[in-house]
Amino acid sequence: MSDSFDVIVIGGGPAGYPAAIRAGQNKLSVACIDEWQNRDGSSAFGGTCLNAGCIPSKALLESTELYYRAQHEFAAHGVGIDGLRFDVAAMQKRKAGIVRQSTQGILQLFKGAGVTPLTGHGRLLAGLKVEFTAHDGAKRTLQAKHVVLATGSEPMPLRGVAFDGDRIVDSWGALEFAEVPKRLCVIGAGVIGLELGSVWRRLGAETVVLEALEQFLPMADGQLSKEAARHFKKQGLDIRLGAKVGAATMKSDGVHVAYTDAKGEQTLVVDRLIVAIGRRPFTKELLGKDSGVALDERGFVVVDEHCRTGAADIWAVGDCVRGPMLAHKGKEEGIAVADRIVGRFGEVNYKVIPSVIYTAPEIAWVGQTEEQAKAAGRQCKIGSFPFAASGRARAMEAGAGFCKLVADAGSDEILGIHIIGPMAGELIAEAVLAMEYSASSEDLQRTIHAHPTLSEALHEAALAADKRAIDIPNR
Ligand SMILES: Cc1cc2nc3c(=O)[nH]c(=O)nc-3n(C[C@H](O)[C@H](O)[C@H](O)COP(=O)(O)OP(=O)(O)OC[C@H]3O[C@@H](n4cnc5c(N)ncnc54)[C@H](O)[C@@H]3O)c2cc1C
Repeated sequence: MSDSFDVIVIGGGPAGYPAAIRAGQNKLSVACIDEWQNRDGSSAFGGTCLNAGCIPSKALLESTELYYRAQHEFAAHGVGIDGLRFDVAAMQKRKAGIVRQSTQGILQLFKGAGVTPLTGHGRLLAGLKVEFTAHDGAKRTLQAKHVVLATGSEPMPLRGVAFDGDRIVDSWGALEFAEVPKRLCVIGAGVIGLELGSVWRRLGAETVVLEALEQFLPMADGQLSKEAARHFKKQGLDIRLGAKVGAATMKSDGVHVAYTDAKGEQTLVVDRLIVAIGRRPFTKELLGKDSGVALDERGFVVVDEHCRTGAADIWAVGDCVRGPMLAHKGKEEGIAVADRIVGRFGEVNYKVIPSVIYTAPEIAWVGQTEEQAKAAGRQCKIGSFPFAASGRARAMEAGAGFCKLVADAGSDEILGIHIIGPMAGELIAEAVLAMEYSASSEDLQRTIHAHPTLSEALHEAALAADKRAIDIPNR
């Protein structure tokens, strides 16, 4: 096998593998190096997203939501179930199968695009050389014309709380529980904490979520976070804000979590503790002495708006660079870089990256919140439409939540769209497309939406922005 490639991608997650595939489609010779090893020692492409993030978490969310709905919602449809039970082992087996299928699929895609997969560690040396160390320790020095760094991120540890891989775990560990903990604590009410907390809460775990910030979901539109907090409370997620965890100690009766809040020092005793306080860039043993690539003070690879590092022909994409740590953001960066390498146009519109929280109800948004738009000095008009007024949502017994559109009062440009409700993560795609094409709220108003669909809620929210909604009174 050749040791020379046009492009070497280090990292085969959702940022790296699409970069490798697009480079292959662009007729370049490509190798993609990835060091991921599962608990059983097997290698797998797909990074955090496919192995321990987006995909397994959504598999568990799907299974547990079905169970929750069977318990709480099926009766309204006239479906009665005697002896309903839940089999955690079967859920985990299904999840493992989905992960396996997804990660093995990448190898097939590599084959189709002519990408050489290399499992092991990649280290960037001077002169566009990459030292590749296979898992058995064998080393080779590879030569590239371009290198793409896509080494991702890792869970942020919390001082005073040591992971033991069993009772005190990170998000990966929380996806692997073999049984439902009776008492569970999640540190961090961010996207990952809420999704994992929801999974185990739905199966009956008494779940407390400790969040250091005073505000719940501060990155979301204020109305959305308020509505979300209401639903989570109803579901029994005990979310405690302004709770700063100092230590966790293992004792015979469980994990003692010490935290302080407005009332003073508190202790919570639980069977399992999940630490989900965020992620940090992962660049361990990535850069040789003279690689020419700089890291910032938080450990991110420094790049410009086109993902170029300071070193010629070395690029970086995904979680290891600035911007939201989201799989789809990394994917677009990887693809754009592979196109830029061959002189094609490659663009990532950072203003319209959607965010989704896959809880029930789902939460999704794109663009500016009402608060952000106003703080930026915009005169805004707002249109909202509740799913309770959507025929399709009512037919689905899913009338919780609403769609909210924020538009500029003068130009009518859509500034942001915020959805909490059924299939919000799917509905947001229309909002992203509209904003990508700089649509006005009138553009959405004049777009025909099939009836009865959930997407009509977005149509009506756009109409409501001009007090022209049909299916709700205009105020
Ligand atoms: C529980 C959870 C749920 C999530 N859910 C979502 C979601 O629903 N939607 C979403 O958009 N995002 C989600 N995320 C975030 C998403 O997983 C990340 O944003 C995404 O995986 C980042 O992609 P990446 O390719 O940059 O990095 P990664 O996926 O972390 O991949 C990097 C890869 O590089 C390898 N690597 C690192 N260093 C080297 C080296 N020197 N040599 C060789 N290989 C190396 C790593 O082993 C890894 O395989 C979730 C994350 C978690 C933890």
